[in-house]
Amino acid sequence: MALTLHQTTIVACATAAGRAGVAMLRLSGPRVRFVTEIICGHIPSPRKATLCKFRDAASGDTLDEGLVLFFPAPHSFTGEDVAEFHLHGSQAVVRAVLTAITNLGQDIRIAQPGEFSKRAFFNGKMDLAAIEGLADLIDSETEWQRKQALRQMQGALSEAANSWRTMLIECMALVEADLDFSDEGDVPTDLAKYITPRLMDLTREMQSALHNVKQGERIREGYRVVIAGAPNVGKSSLLNSLAKRDVAIVSPIAGTTRDVIEIRCDIRGYPVLLADTAGLHETADHVEAMGIDRARREIAQADLLLLLGDTVNPVSSIAVNVTCPRLVVATKADLGAASFPHDVAISIEADTGLDSLLECIGHCIESLAGHEMALVTNERQRHSLQSAHDSLERVLSDTNLSSELVAEELRHAAQRLDMMIGRVDSEHVLDQVFSRFCIGK
Ligand code: GDP
Repeated sequence: MALTLHQTTIVACATAAGRAGVAMLRLSGPRVRFVTEIICGHIPSPRKATLCKFRDAASGDTLDEGLVLFFPAPHSFTGEDVAEFHLHGSQAVVRAVLTAITNLGQDIRIAQPGEFSKRAFFNGKMDLAAIEGLADLIDSETEWQRKQALRQMQGALSEAANSWRTMLIECMALVEADLDFSDEGDVPTDLAKYITPRLMDLTREMQSALHNVKQGERIREGYRVVIAGAPNVGKSSLLNSLAKRDVAIVSPIAGTTRDVIEIRCDIRGYPVLLADTAGLHETADHVEAMGIDRARREIAQADLLLLLGDTVNPVSSIAVNVTCPRLVVATKADLGAASFPHDVAISIEADTGLDSLLECIGHCIESLAGHEMALVTNERQRHSLQSAHDSLERVLSDTNLSSELVAEELRHAAQRLDMMIGRVDSEHVLDQVFSRFCIGK
């Protein structure tokens, strides 16, 4: 991809706002050398951290002292000249140095959210799938989110897409040759014999990537674990205990939880959306009945159901038809042993059984996640891959398809793979991807 020359030089604080030991300003663009020379007094050797005083050109005042790094184009994150100013992490220092920098010219301005990554993309430093991996990595809160995002940022999906594309192009070349020279008899006339096994391999690999999409999405967005049971069995107490704060109202009065209450938590490195739901029972109360309807909808979408019961309301008393895995949890173990079969017994009162419960939830999610890490992790990627896969399926399922139509389907599949990693994409899709970033990325 040709190097895109941006006229403006951008600057932003790449570290989070607020008090900290260090704040890092990142600059990118054609005037980075000029700015560095003026503010730091010299341009340091490439990629070597160098101590300097940061000065305001107008007043000559020293604003701070710290480290400066210079990454000449094209060997930088954005592919342009890039500098990093490592300042003391005070809001006043950051503001003063940013002002000193932007005062140096109208073509030097504060970056928009995601603008550094956008430049990296347009300069061919990263493809769209890798950029999405980077956004996920910055957003990652749990160990598995970090692993999946890093893998994507390092190009796992891009590599697969490129190898699928190469195979497709080989098939396309054979079909094109068949179209061009079919009268001359010097290319295999039995085209299907050559391309069918290749296309079958390709669809199999794509199918397996599509099969894992749900897991990829769950690792990004969280596994839905739903707490359900009769009123008063201790659902809200369990949610609060796992959240380590009072999120839901705990009360001996039945029917206090009328809406779905959801928290995000990290269970054994997996992101989990844990939902407390209204107690399941027959009620004449209109509002409570609405809550129970919501609870049933939530249960229907669960990846894992925690079915709670105590000595008064055993689990067997609630009818719940679900296809997802479930863990039967006997609550209030401090009051006595449960009369129904259960996977784990807990007591919030006596603080027992919670570790075992977390262990069980962790195991269930681990088996849902499977051993293979997902290649495709979001809806945008899935849509493109599904469309590429469907084109190949159409070729394989119709042996009478003309070479022209086969060529058309293969071209379509290759184009969809290109879209998946952002080789061709509309401005709208790109804007959506980059809007996820914060300023400084
Ligand atoms: P929910 O309606 O299922 O959400 O139940 P709550 O969490 O509101 O609890 C109902 C009642 O059971 C409250 O009075 C809680 O204090 C009590 N409770 C919850 N967990 C335990 C426990 O482990 N042991 C005992 N003895 N009481 C509990």
